[in-house]
Amino acid sequence: MKQIAVIGAGTMGNGIAHVFAQSGFRVNLIDVNADQLQKAIATITKNLDRQVAKGTATEEQKQAALQNITTVTDLSNGVQNADLVVEAATENTDLKLKIFQQMDAAAPAGCILATNTSSISITKIAAVTKRPELVIGMHFMNPVPVMKLVEIINGYATKQEVTDAVVTLSKTLGKIPCVVNDYPGFIANRILMPMINEAIYSLFEGVAGVEEIDTVMKLGMAHPMGPLQLADFIGLDVCLAILRVLHDGFGNPKYAPCPLLVNMVTAGKLGAKSGEGFYTYTPGSKELLVSSSFKK
Ligand code: NAD
Repeated sequence: MKQIAVIGAGTMGNGIAHVFAQSGFRVNLIDVNADQLQKAIATITKNLDRQVAKGTATEEQKQAALQNITTVTDLSNGVQNADLVVEAATENTDLKLKIFQQMDAAAPAGCILATNTSSISITKIAAVTKRPELVIGMHFMNPVPVMKLVEIINGYATKQEVTDAVVTLSKTLGKIPCVVNDYPGFIANRILMPMINEAIYSLFEGVAGVEEIDTVMKLGMAHPMGPLQLADFIGLDVCLAILRVLHDGFGNPKYAPCPLLVNMVTAGKLGAKSGEGFYTYTPGSKELLVSSSFKK
């Protein structure tokens, strides 16, 4: 594989383009929003600068990586010479189904179509294409250049050769792949989201405050970050959407999202990206304050 297309230049798409380009692949980074493409290149440049400052990349490697990336606004053009497409557009089922139909029509025969979805069924996405055996989940973690794991999800029809190729490719990127099957939440979010939901329930029921809950999990379980802070970083809307997928997919009430989470998302308190979730985030400051709504 030489030519990669990445669809969506947001938080994940820019990181995915970064790691492929840095490993010597040519990357078409595609987004419907031209401003988002500019921002993505600025973010990739900043992250590569940080690697140069830390001594984990040279200035030449940084320039080579940037030269490997071409930005494109037209999806069909961007995927027409791809060996692999990684879709990292907004987490919305209808949107992803539409994008996969477009990708399937425009990408060469034999091109593997991967999705970075956090929770949407790979089998469902594959079913709208004429090549379900070439469709697979390639779930990178945020921030992509730093996090080692790639959760690889086999859809019902995914061919073994495709899984093998994506495992090998992930290792080429310096990542550690883990192959799992296609059931709601896969493994990462099936385990993480109920923990986050339980932390929110503990707050909702007044068992403890934000700081106490996060401190217990950080110091007691050696988690680098408490579950409420992690939820803020993931985005409370994203957490809610994934919990709904688990709840709908398994039909088990244990996955029902906490009413406090539903209320916060309805009120636009989405975590770090909106400036407030369980903590408040002042632009440009690293100080973390427990959100005023939760002060004891
Ligand atoms: P984001 O909102 O930061 O970026 C999504 C991008 O997709 C935007 O730039 C948007 O303009 C673009 N887009 C929307 N429609 C498009 C289209 N038709 N064609 C091309 N581009 C289009 O989202 P994100 O956080 O980067 O998430 C992307 C995917 O990665 C989602 O499926 C999400 O579930 C998954 N994911 C996110 C995280 C995370 O921590 N943010 C972690 C793992 C996986």
